[in-house]
Amino acid sequence: MENQNPVQNGNILDGNSLAAVNGDGSALIFLGTGCSSAVPNVRCLIQPSDPPCPVCSQSLSIPPDRNPNYRCNTSLLIDYCSVNGVHNYIIIDVGKTFREQVLRWFTFHKIPRIDSIILTHEHADAILGLDDIRAVQPYSPTNNIDPTAIYLTQYAMDSVATKFPYLVQKKLREGQEVRRVAQLDWKIIEEHYEKPFVASGLKFFPLPVMHGEDYLCLGYLFGEKCKVAYISDVSRFPSNTEYVISKNGAGQLDILILDCLYKTGSFNVHLCLPQTLEALKRICPKRALLIGMTHEFDHHKDNEFLREWSEREGIHVQLAHDGLRVPIDL
Ligand SMILES: [Zn+2]
Ligand SMILES: [Zn+2]
Repeated sequence: MENQNPVQNGNILDGNSLAAVNGDGSALIFLGTGCSSAVPNVRCLIQPSDPPCPVCSQSLSIPPDRNPNYRCNTSLLIDYCSVNGVHNYIIIDVGKTFREQVLRWFTFHKIPRIDSIILTHEHADAILGLDDIRAVQPYSPTNNIDPTAIYLTQYAMDSVATKFPYLVQKKLREGQEVRRVAQLDWKIIEEHYEKPFVASGLKFFPLPVMHGEDYLCLGYLFGEKCKVAYISDVSRFPSNTEYVISKNGAGQLDILILDCLYKTGSFNVHLCLPQTLEALKRICPKRALLIGMTHEFDHHKDNEFLREWSEREGIHVQLAHDGLRVPIDL
């Protein structure tokens, strides 16, 4: 499948070396690559500075589908083409901007539905779009449809149950009217690499990471032919987790998709660029794509810097952008 995204025709990323032979195989589709408040940052537009924020002000003149600096909440869609040629659509995280992401990228990349949902954690930017899952499910006024499998930890489950009690409730109480809501099949997973699970035919290994020292978040390792790790929210890697994704540990990743919040300094609950690049040197994947960026990052400018860094260090790293599709043999 030829990629027609206008912002990809330049120099952003060539995923062809990982493409499946027939061109219609599996792919990673970046539905969102921004921080929790998303980019543009609302404050930069309603209380503009003088001069205005160069990254956010672009959103006033460039449509989102052509603006690589327009970033929704982090979310990855795995278009998994199994050996029999059947496509399954697995989404990691369903954040505050989910509906907007469906409108923009499901239509562009012709994604007809979601087959499985995987959650990394229970923060707002990972789960607050769950109500809108009903929009990508078959229509039934009586909710008489097969529920979509959703994989999450018990901790996340407890939190989701308080935020969306109506999505968790199994049976109607006496006298309660039927209201059309998303139908979900909640599946509890464990926060251990040794406890993999299979979603829509693809095996996922949980990667526990610290997201602040008081909070455990999950990344995921998947893919048999090409190995991919997705880690969207991390401030520190426990040694066991770092081992299983490192070239000097369990083996080199083909792609590492990694958190990168700010351009300079450090932050208590996320990696920022200096720590992200240090982590890349230690983990040494073949290729890295960064996600979770704030409005500090200017896509083309900062990718130019990363290109030079990549040549120097021998690890290909770029900022991802919303709508990016990377063909890959899973
Ligand atoms: Zn801004
Ligand atoms: Zn978070």
